[in-house]
This record gives sequence, C-alpha cells and structure tokens, in this order.
Amino acid sequence: MEKVVIIGSGCAGWTAALYTARANLQPLVLTGEQPGGLLTTTSIVENFPGFPEGVDGFELMSRMQKQAERFGARVKFGSIVESADFSKRPFVLTVDGERVEAQSVIIATGASHRHLGLKSEELLEKKGVTYCATCDGALPMFRNQPLVVVGGGDSACEEATYLTRFASVVYLIHRRDTLRASKIMAERTLANPKIKPVWDSVVTEVLDVKQDKVTGVRVRNLKTGGESTLDCAGVFVAIGHVPNTQLFDGQIQRDENGYITPVKGAATNIPGVFVAGDCSDHVYRQAVTAAGMGCAAAIEAERFLAAEG
Ligand code: NAP
Repeated sequence: MEKVVIIGSGCAGWTAALYTARANLQPLVLTGEQPGGLLTTTSIVENFPGFPEGVDGFELMSRMQKQAERFGARVKFGSIVESADFSKRPFVLTVDGERVEAQSVIIATGASHRHLGLKSEELLEKKGVTYCATCDGALPMFRNQPLVVVGGGDSACEEATYLTRFASVVYLIHRRDTLRASKIMAERTLANPKIKPVWDSVVTEVLDVKQDKVTGVRVRNLKTGGESTLDCAGVFVAIGHVPNTQLFDGQIQRDENGYITPVKGAATNIPGVFVAGDCSDHVYRQAVTAAGMGCAAAIEAERFLAAEG
C-alpha cells in the first residue's frame, strides 16, 4: 500500500515528490512515457527563478528528479497508468498491468501538444510535420530549407526563433495580426530577419500526401478568403496544449476543455486525490507555477493523511 502516488513527472510532479518525500511519505512517482514532461523538449528556460543565465529544460527536470530522489522518492520510469479507480479507498491504479493501491494520489499529468486536426497533418506526422523544434529541428531534412511554424503564442515564437539556426527562412503562420506571445518573445521574434510572419492566415492542408513528405502548405487568408501555397520542408505546429486527463473521465470533476477543476486549493472532488500543474491550469501554464502547485498538492496530501492518523 502506497501512502502517496504521484502521476506525472513534470515540474508539478517532481516538486510534489520532493515535498512528500521530505515529509517521510516515500512517494511513488509514475513518470509516464515522457519522464520530465514537456519541458524536456524545450531548449533554454529563461524564466525559472534562480537561473540568471537560463537553464536547459532537460537539465532542469533532471535536477528536480535527483532532488526528489535524494529525500526518498521512488520512481517507476516510463510507467503508464492504464486505469484509475477512485470510487473507494484505497484507490487502485493499474500500472503497466500491475495493481497499485494508494491512500492518496496526486495527479500531475500535464498537457500534450494540440493538433491542427487536418487529415494531411496526421498522415505526414514524422514525415515533416512535428510538434517539437528542439527535438526535430536539427534533422538533415530541415537544414537550409524553408520551414513553417503555426501559432502565435510563446511556444510558436520560441520554435520559430530556434529553427532560424537551421532553416533558410521560417514562415510564422498566425490566425490573427498580433501575437499572443509575451512582449519580450514577440519583439525578439519579429526582429529576427529570418522569420517572416504570415498574418490572419490558417493552414488548410499540408502538402504533399501523395509524395509521402512535406513539400508545402496550403494557406487561407481569413480576411480576404484568398488561398495560396507556401513551399516548405517542415511544419512545426505550436498552437497550444490539451490537458492529459482523459484517463480520469467520469471520475474527477473537469471543465468543458478537460482541465481538472480543484474544489479547494489542490483538492479535487474526491477526498484524497489532489491535482497540480498544467492538467488543471489553463491560465498561467508556467514551469514555476506548476512547481508551486506541486508543492501545494504535496502539503495538502500530507495534511490529509495526517488528519486520518
Ligand atoms: P498559447 O499561449 O495558448 O498560444 C496558442 C497559439 O496558437 C495562439 O496564438 C492561438 O491563436 C493559436 N491557435 C490555437 N488554436 C489554433 C488553431 N486551431 N489553429 C491555428 N492557431 C491556433 O500556447 P503556447 O504558446 O503553447 O503557450 C502555452 C503557455 O506556456 C503560455 O502560458 C505561455 O506563456 C507558456 N510558454 C512560455 C514560454 C516561455 O516563457 N519561454 C515558452 C513556451 C510557452 P490566438 O492567439 O488567436 O488564440
């Protein structure tokens, strides 16, 4: 019987692990298939306090993991939770076919990349369509080629800027005429001579399914209705995220977009189940806020268990 099981290993998960470990609860962390979460796919993180020069996303997550382990957190790497039963206590999770019983659970499952929803996007994924510039940008197929980034937020700006290292030109296709990104990121992006914004436009098709590789995109201008084609070797989709909460469908209270809605602090509608990070936060979505939420969930889990004796 586990005292605390933490599902997820991003900033929220590792911080919850650190705090519950230091409270002597010997937490079990189920990392999911991407240990460290989405931040491991980012390059330099410039806004996590304590790192004036910035820190590599992978390194930041490795450090958080080691810090939690130092105080006794136990980790199941790559473990996938197949089902969760929160209908009675102890809670029961099925993890890689095995039954895990827990007195309390902290859900920190994060979020995944949103897709455009085009058939051609799906068919050309990994054949030029990708969701991670840091992971794929340096591939030979993208070198000295025109590339497309879709989106107007911080992620899109970050991806576009990163890709200028490899691309001949980066087209930043955004559905409006102003970026949603933070001021500093937007200014940096628009000042980059290798980045060409394509305003008020959406991608309607990724070309070319027949050739089984990306050769361009079909773009529609939302103001004029005009269609055009842009040649490119890669399409990097950076249009936000969807919370990883499908597993808890019907068990935990969620909003219409799937974000888990805490009833008070980090507590969900199920006593003993707590939530932290991007799977419940559609407002701030920062590494540091996820870490803070992980801390809060850990403290609440500790108090919950202490109250039960
Ligand atoms: P985001 O802020 O939600 O931006 C998503 C962008 O994609 C928006 O510009 C949106 O357009 C566009 N979009 C959404 N759905 C679309 C669709 N179906 N077709 C075309 N465009 C679509 O997401 P994000 O950029 O991933 O950022 C998420 C959070 O992480 C934010 O809080 C951000 O500040 C943070 N973040 C921070 C950093 C950093 O500080 N270094 C880096 C990355 C992310 P509209 O603008 O028209 O809605």
